[in-house]
Parts: sequence; structure tokens; C-alpha cells
Amino acid sequence: MAKDNIKIYKGDIIFTKTPDKFESIEGGYILVEGNKIKKICRELDESCKNMEITDFGDKMIIPGFVDLHLHAGQFRNLGLGMDKELLPWLETYTFPEESKFQDTRYAREVYLEFVNALLESGTTRSVIFATLHKEATDILFDLINQSGMGAFIGKVNMDRNSPDYLIENTEESLEDTEYFIKKYANSSELVKFIITPRFIPTCSSELMTGLAELAQKYKVPVQSHLSENTGEINWVHELHPESDNYLGVYDKYGILGQDSAVMAHCVHNDNKEIEIMKKKRVFVAHCPTSNINLSSGTAPVKKYMDNGIDVGIGSDISGGHILSIKDCTAYALQASKIYNMYVDKNSPILKTSEAFYLATKGGGKFFGKVGSFEEEYEFDALIINDRNADKSLEERLQSFIYSGALSDIERRFCAGKEIKKI
Ligand SMILES: [Zn+2]
Repeated sequence: MAKDNIKIYKGDIIFTKTPDKFESIEGGYILVEGNKIKKICRELDESCKNMEITDFGDKMIIPGFVDLHLHAGQFRNLGLGMDKELLPWLETYTFPEESKFQDTRYAREVYLEFVNALLESGTTRSVIFATLHKEATDILFDLINQSGMGAFIGKVNMDRNSPDYLIENTEESLEDTEYFIKKYANSSELVKFIITPRFIPTCSSELMTGLAELAQKYKVPVQSHLSENTGEINWVHELHPESDNYLGVYDKYGILGQDSAVMAHCVHNDNKEIEIMKKKRVFVAHCPTSNINLSSGTAPVKKYMDNGIDVGIGSDISGGHILSIKDCTAYALQASKIYNMYVDKNSPILKTSEAFYLATKGGGKFFGKVGSFEEEYEFDALIINDRNADKSLEERLQSFIYSGALSDIERRFCAGKEIKKI
């Protein structure tokens, strides 16, 4: 190893290689070269003896959190409108707020606040919906790039069943999408573009066909919403009676399977949809806070995991009221208990290690080798001063997930570099 490029971090390390159990090393070492982990060990060998070590003492070193689904343009609405279900909530609160991003000054102000709050919450990677506005979305790209966090960002597409003040012309929507693809899709930066049809009801057949062509031509990933709420699902069936199910509508346009895709929610998917998800590498962004807030239901997360489908956690702000994935992880654990108590008593509840896996390596897979402390993984990490060193590492992590404060997160790293507020 070329010693000059190696950074060594020491501390109480805990992570999940597999969902079923934690890996932990008290007073262990992580050797990082550039953006990647070279080695993780209990003892340093002779060749490292004279190298400089950053010693975090008995603080915890955990992987950075991954937020697989959130809406930056809804940041100012956090905690608002939880008295409504999805469709009236969109009309009353969400669409009016998103329309404000026409104003680039407003966009810059809110997105700056959002980027710093996201970083502070311990998220190092995220998959983000911006709004339909081209200039505002460009501003969000700039700010996330400055922060050093990794992200996929999508300019939202919506050309039907939307209010007059928040709707696009189909042709312009496709042109703007191609502009972002060309500008960012093959960027070596940590921030990339993702094609983002809002959901089936707001996207015409012409728009979906055009987006699928772009996904095929440039091999770009896709994100959208799927089977969140029964009112929404019925609406999709009315709009597309020719299709067996909701995911089948996305699939018939050819938008799935070109690159990976993230579908947020997946609360009410049927077995045919699960088959499509397996075949087309569809990730589930499980959004427990949002699903409960908007009375959507609870997703069968264990069923997806048992079927080999990739699952991560999404804050889904502002359907979700909390930006922190740490807190959403506790909600995911609670949601799985609600699912077990009220939906399917035969469905086992999530273990803490499984929920933590979803919040790190599960969602991290969408970015490649991210979310774990294994060799060749990118070094995304949080240093946690939890003042709990008398307990076992697993107990400390559990306590941090449920009851820790964001101020316990002392330092943050993404792709080998320390990241700070901008
Ligand atoms: Zn959403």
C-alpha cells in the first residue's frame, strides 16, 4: 500500500454486512485509500505502525445513512398537512409549495437550508425529487455538489392531472430532462441525474414513452412512486384499465430495466408486481413515517427482503415529517410491528440489525458499494459521541437509533472525505 494516501481511523466500529447480524470491533481500525476502504481490522500490522492515526477513542464509527426517497421541494412543509390522505394532501399543501420553486431566489434559500439539514441529519447519500423547474433543479445540483454528499437528483415530470400552476408541456418536459441527462448522467461526480416521472396519474402516455426512450438511450436510472394509497391505486386502474396492476403501467412503457429503478412506498403491491420487481431490479424505498402520516398503510418489508428485492429507507419528506434516517429507522421497526399486529400475524417483525441494514447497505446498493465497512466499499461514515461506552456496541447503536440526538453526530465522511455544512 502506498502509505501517503492511506488514512487510518480508529474507534468503536459497528455495521451490517448482512441483515441478520451486526459486525462490530471495539477499538478497531479502518484503513481508507482515496474514497475506498482498503482494510478493516482489530490490530494494525507492522507496515502501518508509523502511519498517522485519527483516533476517535470510544466513539462509535457507523456507516453514513442513505435516504432512498425524499422531496427537496417539500422541505418547508415539514410537519404540515398530516390531517389529509395522499391525493387531497397533494392538492392542498404540496403542489402550492412546489410551485414556489419557479422563483429561483426562493429555491436557493430553501435548498441551502435543506442541504445543510440533510447533512446534519447524518445522511450521506440520497435519492431526491426536486420539482419540475429546470433552473431550481440546477441550483439543487450545485448545492449538493458543494456539500460533498452523494445523490441522485431528478427534475420532476408531470404533464396531466396537475393544477394549472404546476404542469408542463410534454415536449418541454422531455427536453429539460435530456438537458439534465447530458449535463450530469455520466458525471464522475458524486451527484447524478435520475429520471423522475412524478407518478402515473400525472404523466401522459406520450411523456412516459418519451422518458422510457431517454432511459434506454442513455441508460439512466428512474425513480417514481408505486402503490402508496388505495385511492391512488384505484385512480391508476381507472386511467389504465388495460394494465393488470400499477407497476405493469410503468413496465409497459419500457421505463423499467434499462438501469436500476427506485419505487417509493410499495405498500399494496400484489404478487405479479413482486415478480416484475425481481426481474427489472426495482428497489423499494420504504417510507414508514409517510405511510402512517397519510394513512396509506404499512409495507410488507420482510416479504420484499425474503423475495430478494433490494429495500432501503426513505424519509419521504414532507409526507414524512422527519428528515433523519436514524429516526425513520426506528419508525421502520415500529411499522413492522404494526404490520405484524394488524395485517399479517405470520409476518416476522424486523430486527434492529435488519432495519439498520436497510438504512445503510440496503439503500447504499443503489449507489454501488456504499453503506458498509467492507473492503472496496466507499468510506461513508458518521462519528457518534453517544456517551454510552459502558454498554455493548449493539446496545449503544440501538439506543442511538431510538433515542440519540442529531448533536451526537460529531463528524461525517462521504466517499473518503470529511463533509461539513456549506
Ligand atoms: Zn414521495
